[in-house]
Amino acid sequence: MKKELGLYVHIPFCVKKCGYCDFLSWCGTSEEKETYVQALLKEIESYREFARGYRVSTVFVGGGTPSVLEAGQMEGVLGNIQEVFELEKKPEITLEMNPGTVTEEKLQCYKENGVNRLSIGLQSVKNEKLEVLGRIHSYEEFLESYELARKAGFTNISVDLISSIPGQKLEEWKEELAALSALSPEHISVYQLIIEAETPFYEKYAEHEELLPDEEESREIYLWTGSFLKEQGYEQYEISNYAKPGKESRHNLKYWERGDYLGLGLGAASMVRNIRVSNTKDMKTYLERCGQPKTMREDVQFLEEARQMEEFMFLGLRKTRGVSRKEFRRIFGQEMDMVYEKALHKCLENGMLKEHKDRVYLSEEGVLLSNAVLLEFLFD
Ligand code: SF4
Repeated sequence: MKKELGLYVHIPFCVKKCGYCDFLSWCGTSEEKETYVQALLKEIESYREFARGYRVSTVFVGGGTPSVLEAGQMEGVLGNIQEVFELEKKPEITLEMNPGTVTEEKLQCYKENGVNRLSIGLQSVKNEKLEVLGRIHSYEEFLESYELARKAGFTNISVDLISSIPGQKLEEWKEELAALSALSPEHISVYQLIIEAETPFYEKYAEHEELLPDEEESREIYLWTGSFLKEQGYEQYEISNYAKPGKESRHNLKYWERGDYLGLGLGAASMVRNIRVSNTKDMKTYLERCGQPKTMREDVQFLEEARQMEEFMFLGLRKTRGVSRKEFRRIFGQEMDMVYEKALHKCLENGMLKEHKDRVYLSEEGVLLSNAVLLEFLFD
């Protein structure tokens, strides 16, 4: 019986680098993009033998900004994947795009090549905030792209927002979410801004935290987001993700449920049969070795059972439905309450975790302090 697999495809190009971004991405030349696509095709091709053991249920083309590629280039990548890998009957195929980088022709091409879910990076409804973030687009351009996507027939669209942007207040955030939910995308992700090292934002804000919303404001924004989106028909199913019924991201659930996934492209991470590994982040090495992925792997890590248990807990607890004791027993042949006796007792006592029947999940307070709570589940 073939095993289920997710595919992640990394496209490392963007129109311009955003001030807060530490992802593996940059503005490539047309030549660079074409060379990269050819290498990616070669890498996909090299998995023909491996692919025989799997049936792919989700594909996620992320970046970077995958929509900066030409329609024909994306067609090549998607076509090659479907030629080399066996896809299940109704796979989820997501493509990330940024406002202002798609045309009718590109959207049509995505549709014809099986893409059935779009993830649009809006980040803010307010143009002045988009400027602060260093985004390439305005809200009006987002509306145009969103409209184009709907016209092209996409019925499953996710939109990303960033909260706790410098200067953001709850009242303003309320307007942002109201405007976005009025458009009724099927899925909304809200990520709190994190000031990452080695970004322009780090230089600007690391020493000036007073310019960022404080803890209390961020907390209010978070709690209000959950209750408002619930009223609008979105269920929160993970710390940062909200979906209309049945529209949860199947691909991302795979990450939190520790399903197997293969990363294709520069720097892409994989987890297959409890081995975590990343492709090289060095473009020159990638281009030279894309035909033999084994030779360009970094950070190879075989997960011993203890590590698998840790991941089961700290990834699973990110989901609002939490983790199942029965599932833990099925996978590890041990009782979760024995293995995590101290941590469970402590977090249930102090109200960071709750339990219902077989499941254990983060409480509202636990979600707000999730980083600290999840650390409790790491072995020393
Ligand atoms: S569009 Fe996304 S990946 Fe590209 S620079 Fe901006 S945040 Fe980074």
